[in-house]
Amino acid sequence: MPFGDLLADLKALPALARYSLTLYRRRNGTVASAQRFESCATVVEDPLCREVSRQFFEENMEVFFDEATPSVCRYGGGFFGFLIPFTLSGEDLCLVGDGVREESIDLWQLASLARNGGDAFSLLPYVESLATASYEEVEEVAEQVRRRIELYLLPARTEPPVPPPAHPQDALGDAALSVVSQAMERLDKVSTVTACVAICCETIVTAFQPARMALALPDAEGKSFPVTGVWGLPEELGTLTPETLQLFVAPDKAKRTVLWDGKMRAALPDLRATVCTPFPLKAQGERLGFLAIFDTDVAPNQALLISMLVGAMAGKLATIDKDATRSKENALSERLMSLTDTLLQIDSKDLLYESILKIASELIDATQGSIMLIDKDGVGMQIVFTLGMTLNIARCLQLKVGKGIAGMVAKTGQPLLVNDVEKDSRVAMANRMRFKSKSLICIPLKLKEKVIGVLNLSDKKNLRPFTHSDLQLLTSFANLASLMIERTEVLEESERFEQLSVTDPLTGLYNRRFLKSRLEEELNRSMRQGLNLTVIFIDLDFFKNYNDLCGHLAGDEALKLTADIIKESLREMDIVARYGGEEFCAVLPGTSKAEAMIVAERIRCEIENKRFPGASDIPLRRLTASLGIASFPEDGRTFNDLVHASDVALYEAKARGRNRIVAARTSADRGEAVHELSDQRPAQTQSNLAKTLDFNTYLEASLQSKG
Ligand code: GH3
Ligand code: MG
Ligand code: MG
Repeated sequence: MPFGDLLADLKALPALARYSLTLYRRRNGTVASAQRFESCATVVEDPLCREVSRQFFEENMEVFFDEATPSVCRYGGGFFGFLIPFTLSGEDLCLVGDGVREESIDLWQLASLARNGGDAFSLLPYVESLATASYEEVEEVAEQVRRRIELYLLPARTEPPVPPPAHPQDALGDAALSVVSQAMERLDKVSTVTACVAICCETIVTAFQPARMALALPDAEGKSFPVTGVWGLPEELGTLTPETLQLFVAPDKAKRTVLWDGKMRAALPDLRATVCTPFPLKAQGERLGFLAIFDTDVAPNQALLISMLVGAMAGKLATIDKDATRSKENALSERLMSLTDTLLQIDSKDLLYESILKIASELIDATQGSIMLIDKDGVGMQIVFTLGMTLNIARCLQLKVGKGIAGMVAKTGQPLLVNDVEKDSRVAMANRMRFKSKSLICIPLKLKEKVIGVLNLSDKKNLRPFTHSDLQLLTSFANLASLMIERTEVLEESERFEQLSVTDPLTGLYNRRFLKSRLEEELNRSMRQGLNLTVIFIDLDFFKNYNDLCGHLAGDEALKLTADIIKESLREMDIVARYGGEEFCAVLPGTSKAEAMIVAERIRCEIENKRFPGASDIPLRRLTASLGIASFPEDGRTFNDLVHASDVALYEAKARGRNRIVAARTSADRGEAVHELSDQRPAQTQSNLAKTLDFNTYLEASLQSKG
């Protein structure tokens, strides 16, 4: 029985580097004496082992054999050892590992142990030289050794396994190489982190048989690195910060087997190990964590293969991460786009504020919030909408830029994510009663670089703090919200400005207000230069009826077409305006009444002959206009006088049967008939005309003419 081989193999375990090993064998007798045990081999012989430890273990060996379970002992006031009883080829054996000590040694006990002539002082240097360990660490090592011994006991294996080759040349066997390169090919094809990790870990376990293995990967936000046991270790081992991560990925540690030192232990207290071989996960210069093998002798060429595999995994993880980010961004921008559509439907400010707050709170699961806008003076702030708080009360709050949390965000333009309002030094304030949780998010609403307000949200549904990704999501949305706020402000503004504008939005003609000022200017000039000026009023006939029968849209279209006809009939210098609903006014500077009559007739004729949409549905099957004309200076010298005179003429045109032109009477031809151009119309048109004011008679006439 090659017990020596077994011991040598065990001794090669890095975890056992600091231990002395002794293998005991129980002879078939039953006499309870020390001679029943035989020390087969001692790998490390040291005085302490003889003097202290062996004495302790041998005295108790029978109990250990009877218990037949591995145990860890603390003896001699500060020494540790483990025992692993097992049966191999029908023989009762027990492996004892010792030679490590606790940080503090009880000197009294040490003195009492150092009998047989030796004194405690002479033992001190040995005590000093022993490695220190904790009870738990020894337990871990014992467990590892037990598992190793178990391998010897497997039925298929009558012979102990060949220990890992000590020389790199052997390690770089063709088998390992091909397993790794196959794994790298497989890695290339997968698209999830889980699959990636599984391939890498399986391959390492198969090809290199590590004792234990762990993996550190960044969390969702890339801020910390949870460490997971992937082989022979508990799943949750703790979390590293970017600083403590350095302990494992620093160039002097990477790919090397290093002692599991105090700093590493402090960083991951739940991970018990003796030595560690970390392989950094690094892609495009970014640290993504590491894969670490514990308590395993990793030959340089094995390390090379492992680091190649781990490097391939890192590359793949980075690609997966990038793809995920990209699709997340796409999803986000799609979401924002649909939100834009929603917000674009809103044109009242209050509704917009409400929608913004609702959407924002839904995006990050907040239950309370408010929108504050900075006053025009840039000093005060107003709450314009609230969620979970009465708006009337909120509106009474006196808020100032630079004061309080929101005021600070308004001033700096920097978003604020507070995990705990009571503890965060930036806000340091007692959590006000109305907040359920202590976490809040405060985002500036910005247009370009100008802060226009602040979006506040608090109290996440699950009462947990808001996260960095909540902040990012809300920041993207805040940009959109700011634009929408600006848009509705401009819309409301423009409504006010419309009164000041000069054109009529439907026809593009000047409006009545502008006509007045232009006409007054032209009158002044005419007066100065002694020129004529004529005003033509054009009113569509029975337009209400047309609207009623053909619809408002057709009515609008007819108004636009009429505007075009009038414009085209005039000169560049003439002014044309929409005076009211279906009433237009043309001002012809330097034009006498007689000249204007010709222009007016052109307009009347064009309208009469125009095919307006749906006109075939109205009684006369066409739309006509009546026109009234008045001239400067004979019919009036002011805007009001001229408008009045042409209005009277227009009324007369209507009274005389419509679709005709009537000019105001000049003082010269007062008492005569007004100038009327209806007689100039073609015969068939005339026959279609009603001569009465009453629409019913007009309608009757039209029916008769058709009959
Ligand atoms: P009359 O021959 O006596 O001028 O009769 P009318 O029906 O043309 O006159 P009335 O003043 O009774 O009606 C004018 C109609 O013009 C009322 C309204 O339906 C229509 N109207 C006014 N402004 C607009 C507009 O901007 N679009 C449309 N589609 N219709 C308008
Ligand atoms: Mg009319
Ligand atoms: Mg009218």
